Amino acid sequence: MSELAPVPSQLSARVLGLAQLGLIVIDADLRIVMWNQWMASRSGKSAHRVLGQDLFDLYGELRGQRLEQAVLSALQSNLPQTLSPALNPSPFPLYPAGSWGGERVEQAVSVTPFNEGKERFCLIEVSDISAIVGRERQLRSQAEALRAQSYVDGLTGIANRRHFDVAMDRELRRAMRNEGQLSLLLMDIDSFKAYNDHFGHQQGDACLTLVAEAFASMLQRPADLAARYGGEEFAAVLPDTSAEQAARHAEAIRAKIASLNIHHAPAATRPHVTMSIGVATFDKEHLNDVAAMLAAADSCLYAAKKAGRDCVIVYRPQADAA
Ligand code: GH3
Ligand code: MG
Ligand code: MG
Repeated sequence: MSELAPVPSQLSARVLGLAQLGLIVIDADLRIVMWNQWMASRSGKSAHRVLGQDLFDLYGELRGQRLEQAVLSALQSNLPQTLSPALNPSPFPLYPAGSWGGERVEQAVSVTPFNEGKERFCLIEVSDISAIVGRERQLRSQAEALRAQSYVDGLTGIANRRHFDVAMDRELRRAMRNEGQLSLLLMDIDSFKAYNDHFGHQQGDACLTLVAEAFASMLQRPADLAARYGGEEFAAVLPDTSAEQAARHAEAIRAKIASLNIHHAPAATRPHVTMSIGVATFDKEHLNDVAAMLAAADSCLYAAKKAGRDCVIVYRPQADAA
């Protein structure tokens, strides 16, 4: 049995009382030999009450946890240990001083063994990192809000749906005003569910990024826009582009994706990753608003899927009207 720690001098005692972090010292038998004012005011347990008690009897919930392992290993190895706040959030049931019942204090804990005479002790320092954690959470949610407002797709780095909507609306108005041409491609990766099921969602994401980059690299003019339209669907806005030119573009994109030769799942229709593409071109009589152009391109995309996938189908207004 070890004796209690030496009594600190008056000055040290005053400093311990003023310290803005929790200081606990336990002996080799895990008994608490020091418990500063910071710990008392946040735990609701006075030093008088806890001194001499086994720390892990006092807080049974810490048994088997990382903190207990760190203390035991520090006492044994005489090496300091730091607990990662991400893996060990708030080990002690501590609450802000003077507001009992509020939010549990977020803690960073370090464990430092030391020898005094023949005895080994362990100093446990507990810092309140609630403000830092709160600020981190705030920054993260701000970043998410900014991303939602931005025009870039978070996964692939190409334009997002919001950007597509704005560009499509702007280009359609311009085409109406100038009696210009405007084409829209809607494309969808073939059998992508099978890809995810076979290779996993993470590799699915990597595949989406490769396809997006290859697709975007095919659009050369500054006014062209390559966007991620939805999950595994992409769209291209092609101003000043006729139906024939758009069909050629679409075919080149289809061939480019196939040439990437990305190994596909056994259940897919092709051994490599492919895309089906629907093409619609602005037409003052038939396709003169965004919804109509989208519906036309989508119906062609659907037809391309039905035709066996890995192909391009172009919308024909006359055929549709007939
Ligand atoms: P089809 O050839 O008819 O297009 O078949 P499909 O399997 O591609 O079509 P379906 O719409 O049934 O499945 C699309 C799949 O795309 C479903 C979903 O698992 C996957 N997906 C959608 N968004 C993402 C994403 O952001 N990441 C990953 N990894 N997969 C996605
Ligand atoms: Mg789809
Ligand atoms: Mg698909």
